[in-house]
Amino acid sequence: MNAAAQSVDIHKDQIIFSEGDAGDCAYIIEKGRVLIYLTKDKEEIPLTILGEGEIFGEMALIDNQNRSASVRALEDVRLAIVTKQQVLERVSTADKVVQLLMRVLLKRLRRKNIGGPGGSRISEVEFDNSGAGDDGTQSALDQIKLENQIFQAFQNKEFELFYQPIVNLKNKTITGCEALLRWNSPQHGLVSPNLFIDIIENSSMVIPIGHWIINQALKDLRTIQDQLRLNKKERMADDFMMSINISGRQFTHSDFVNNLEDLREKHDLHTQNIKLEMTERIMMDGAIAIDALNQCRSLGYAISIDDFGTGFSGLQYLTQMPISFLKIDRSFVMKILSDPKSKAVVSSIIHLAHAMDIEVIAEGIEHHEEALVLETLGARFGQGYLFSKPVDLGRFLKLI
Ligand code: C2E
Ligand code: MG
Ligand code: MG
Repeated sequence: MNAAAQSVDIHKDQIIFSEGDAGDCAYIIEKGRVLIYLTKDKEEIPLTILGEGEIFGEMALIDNQNRSASVRALEDVRLAIVTKQQVLERVSTADKVVQLLMRVLLKRLRRKNIGGPGGSRISEVEFDNSGAGDDGTQSALDQIKLENQIFQAFQNKEFELFYQPIVNLKNKTITGCEALLRWNSPQHGLVSPNLFIDIIENSSMVIPIGHWIINQALKDLRTIQDQLRLNKKERMADDFMMSINISGRQFTHSDFVNNLEDLREKHDLHTQNIKLEMTERIMMDGAIAIDALNQCRSLGYAISIDDFGTGFSGLQYLTQMPISFLKIDRSFVMKILSDPKSKAVVSSIIHLAHAMDIEVIAEGIEHHEEALVLETLGARFGQGYLFSKPVDLGRFLKLI
């Protein structure tokens, strides 16, 4: 059969493939029904009948074995061909645990078919457990263990928020801070979120952990503002902004805005002192994200786009979204002195932002010269090790 064709028409009673054939594609039934069967002593042992929308022939592609059964058209059928490449691409991009589940189910299915209605043949065709199989099982195990470990750490109260100042580049005064998650592990010490934030964001843990992060950041914002007022820095307290990183899954959760409002009221805070930081990826969540963004913005929360310039390629969303800040990613800032192209990108972002009434924050400033160039290019705010590394609340209170 020609695997390059997209669809094929098969006549009634025609055999699509036979047990033992090498498999180079799978099929989705567009029209008609097929019979899957085994042959024993020249006798057909029917296994199942499949109809429109169902897939067959995928097993041989996934587990690299020959066809384990035969397939015959029960009537005139039309089949869409799914190439081996298409199947494997999907399998390989699936979650590690889903991959493990698939392999185990396939293995069981093959055993059942082979030892099934025919009865006599034992499961001599074993699932290919070599190479990728072993690695796959190991990484699925690692992933589950890590997820459990992280959730355990959260329950053991090993998570903590650090705060990094955001400064006005002109006079270097602190105008706010960004809350950054830390895992204070008794075993490994202070662990950077780069090592575990993806795992949280890709699982349902993001909801309770995200809730905890917002509550903690808002509680600490209250403390920061109280201390500023105590020190007679009324103006600074009124303008102080707490940035909180919010992941897409957390933001598009149906209760996000209500929960945020509850926590804000609990800590007696104003929305204009709270900034929600999200990456451009949020735009991929479409209408739900736009709705939540508009709701937050109309309540007075500031919205900031994190790591700007590194992700989503379209700029269209800037015209449709109620965005108040763009954060220029560190990857541009770190090259601003040595690479004229990076400098040009930064300069363009700043112009674009200002033309749209959006403020710019430059991330990852480590050197005085970088701060100078950024300020000359028109960036108003900056954040980076030059001013301070992220520190715990106690140390942050000493900075302000
Ligand atoms: P981000 O939101 O872009 O945060 C900025 C990161 O750059 C922080 O890393 C910060 O410590 C680091 N950084 C700041 N200034 C400098 C500098 O001058 N030089 C260098 N080399 N690095 C600098 P961190 O804290 O490790 O966080 C990494 C990422 O993890 C964050 O990137 C953010 O995407 C995510 N993250 C952190 N906390 C949270 C959180 O509470 N919730 C969510 N959803 N994500 C978080
Ligand atoms: Mg951020
Ligand atoms: Mg960033």
